[in-house]
Amino acid sequence: MIKIAHLYPHHLNLYGDIGNIITFANRLKWRSIDFCIDEISLGEQVKKYKDYDLIFIGGGQDRQQEEIAADIASRRNELFDLVENNLPVLAVCGGYQLLGKYYQTSEGHEIAGLDILGIITKAPSQQKNSKQDRLIGNVSAKLLLEMQFNTELKTLVGFENHSGRTFIVDQNTKPLAQIIKGFGNNAEDVFEGAYYKNLIGTYVHGSLLPKNPHLADEILYRAIKYSGKNYSLNALDDSFELEAHNFALKL
Ligand code: GLN
Repeated sequence: MIKIAHLYPHHLNLYGDIGNIITFANRLKWRSIDFCIDEISLGEQVKKYKDYDLIFIGGGQDRQQEEIAADIASRRNELFDLVENNLPVLAVCGGYQLLGKYYQTSEGHEIAGLDILGIITKAPSQQKNSKQDRLIGNVSAKLLLEMQFNTELKTLVGFENHSGRTFIVDQNTKPLAQIIKGFGNNAEDVFEGAYYKNLIGTYVHGSLLPKNPHLADEILYRAIKYSGKNYSLNALDDSFELEAHNFALKL
């Protein structure tokens, strides 16, 4: 069985982020691979993080991020060790920001992050000459992540809506993708998202995975490898998913 943990599903779930969990579940079910998904909410103790093969954390507004900041910080060391040990993690937007060093909100609050990803994030009022408050719209990007499973499709599509500008500040953290259209991390350096080992952070909602089946399988492939189990990911009929992907590329 593949065990998935969904962190803070009630606090961090913007723009259909739950669709990422549904995609993991369906793509495992369609291949007859047993799985379970545990929701881990604010204050909930986890006996053994080590049992999980994949962690997902979604996006949220500043207020929700502030609400869970202390709780996620209390889980930091366990999560850090697991990421070092190659646990696959997918983090979207607010969740992505919280895995970095800090997020400075437009009101000037500094929310300490877990410092697992080498990124910092600042909201616009902290930056000079910021033209736009929020970075909103459709995104298409060229994947820079080294794909281990499906190496054919090299694009990423979705939707972004964030005020935070994220910058990669550590050379061990790499950009996930290069922007073709949209803003990405900060509207300045053309990068979107970041990764370190098997931890992937992105600003792309939409949800992300239904329209990017190659990335969904890439993450599942890494989760299966990490689990040490012998499951294989047989090919699926992704014609609808690819039609959506290709349509979104033209938006
Ligand atoms: N609150 C963060 C921002 O606006 C994240 C938003 C989100 O998760 N969509 O930057």
